[in-house]
Amino acid sequence: MINNERIDHLERLLEVVRGLTTAPDIEAFLQTVISEASEMTDSELASILEYDEVAEELRFLAMQWFQRDMLRPLGVPLEGSAAGWVFKRGQPLIIQDAKADQRHFKVIDRVTRHETSSLAAVPLIVRGEVIGVLETLNKKDNAHYTEEDLTILATLGALAAQAMQNVGLQRKVRIASIELAELERLKTDFIAVTSHELRTPLGLILGHATFLRELAGDQYGEQLNTIIRNATRLKEIVENLSDVDNVQTGAARIRSHQVSLTKVAEDTILTFQDEATARNITLKLDVEGNNPFYVDADGVKISIAVSNLVKNAIQFTDTGGHITVKIMEDSGYLKVSVSDDGIGIPARDLPRVFERFFQVETHLTRRHGGMGLGLSVAKAMIELHGGRIWVESQEGKGSTFIFLLPTTKEQPPVTSISPFLE
Ligand code: ADP
Repeated sequence: MINNERIDHLERLLEVVRGLTTAPDIEAFLQTVISEASEMTDSELASILEYDEVAEELRFLAMQWFQRDMLRPLGVPLEGSAAGWVFKRGQPLIIQDAKADQRHFKVIDRVTRHETSSLAAVPLIVRGEVIGVLETLNKKDNAHYTEEDLTILATLGALAAQAMQNVGLQRKVRIASIELAELERLKTDFIAVTSHELRTPLGLILGHATFLRELAGDQYGEQLNTIIRNATRLKEIVENLSDVDNVQTGAARIRSHQVSLTKVAEDTILTFQDEATARNITLKLDVEGNNPFYVDADGVKISIAVSNLVKNAIQFTDTGGHITVKIMEDSGYLKVSVSDDGIGIPARDLPRVFERFFQVETHLTRRHGGMGLGLSVAKAMIELHGGRIWVESQEGKGSTFIFLLPTTKEQPPVTSISPFLE
């Protein structure tokens, strides 16, 4: 008989365990816990109390439905209550004669017009921290609560605590992701406003400085060239910022034409050749079969991507280094790689280099210029075309940035001269 009862208890406890994953929500699960707690211990009532850190008291989280409206608004103090006693000590408690016991909090009985004669309570513990209490009241037929009852309550209490902790964690994750989204929005707004507001004054500075240089001749030529060079650099930064913003807000549009990737690479190399030579860096192009490699793409955007990769390669390669831009066909895609034998990227930073504003060097140790935008822009430009970009690198040995673009089926018109022809 005893054995049958134990088997029954075990089966019911197992059913509650299953409820941890199958119950529709925490309320439904805690409801199951208290109804099993009262039935399995032969009690009249059961409830779960949770510690409220702000009010510094216990509050009813789950109770029999007919007590809900009365108990929900009530708080149970930690001093002068059985639940408080259990909570503070983290130990179970049995009170056989509640009326005579000072630890019983009599206010609840008065409000609910219920008379508590006996009670059993266990702490709800998560990783050594007590978060609440599971309590049963009035064992039927004036029977005494037993150790067996406490074991049942402790098992149910452990399950309830687990479920409550899961909900707490989910809440924290939700709050963190809302905060993250807000930060991301601030970042995007900041980019949009900055790039927009800087564009006009910069255009004016450049325009007037260029005009003055022509007027001034040699006298202030060097100073004006410095202004123009630095304003041009600022303009590049602003353009990068607005490229990122356009991609993010969906304002970026692709104006596709037949574009020769070879021509794009040749033009880019021409643009950077002087800078490379000045630093004694060999910059060369290697095109498979001297093919023009046509793609249906927005030439300006592809050119921005290739330029940003070549610019970085020059920046992060020491004098005497080598940079190769390679173009080839690879299983239905055109593959462009920019390799250097420069400083390389530490393995831990590889997954982050395409993030906006990411730089391997911190601001404090920074030796190179830049804003950490070039690669995120390149990535956006390639992905806008349905392509893919990645990097292979070894610290101290060099880096290879590779992107793939889908090839074009049609052949270009014979008259196409420039990759950027509209
Ligand atoms: P930045 O304007 O700072 O160069 P990027 O987005 O273009 O920003 O690059 C992000 C970071 O990735 C760089 O600051 C640098 O630390 C690293 N990086 C990019 N290209 C190379 C490269 N060819 N070799 C070594 N490190 C590189």
